[in-house]
Amino acid sequence: MGLRIGNGYDIHCLVRGRPLILGGVTIPHDRGLEGHSDADVLTHAVMDALLGALSLGDIGLYFPPGDPQWAGADSLKLLAQVRAMVEQRGWQVGNVDTVIVAEQPKLKPHIAAMRSRLAEVLQVDTDQVGIKATTNEGLGPVGRQEGIAVYAVVLLTHQ
Ligand code: MG
Repeated sequence: MGLRIGNGYDIHCLVRGRPLILGGVTIPHDRGLEGHSDADVLTHAVMDALLGALSLGDIGLYFPPGDPQWAGADSLKLLAQVRAMVEQRGWQVGNVDTVIVAEQPKLKPHIAAMRSRLAEVLQVDTDQVGIKATTNEGLGPVGRQEGIAVYAVVLLTHQ
């Protein structure tokens, strides 16, 4: 059995007047993430990890931020396209693990919903999708609530 590992990282600024969308779930907050698409930083990091596992470049290559086609895009739809690219090459998702670094809001009540949305799009069981949330202990831009960052790793398997 073949194995490939990939990692992904993304960060977006928090601004007023935007919804906060993480893993396809809209989370109540006084600010949301800025970006060309829906700015779903969690989904973007997972996409980059999937692409990285197969050395297929990064999401900017397939969904350029300046392209009007992706303005306000639902990132879960983009994730579905990346999953299809992985499958077309004969690979399956073994598991995904992620860390969301956010000072606010508290994400614990939303983790189950995020896991189930990502698992649905990746066509895996929810126990194959890990989502952890931590703060940055007040340090740096994330600690000052200027943005939210996400780290992701994926393992792909090939029969
Ligand atoms: Mg992004």
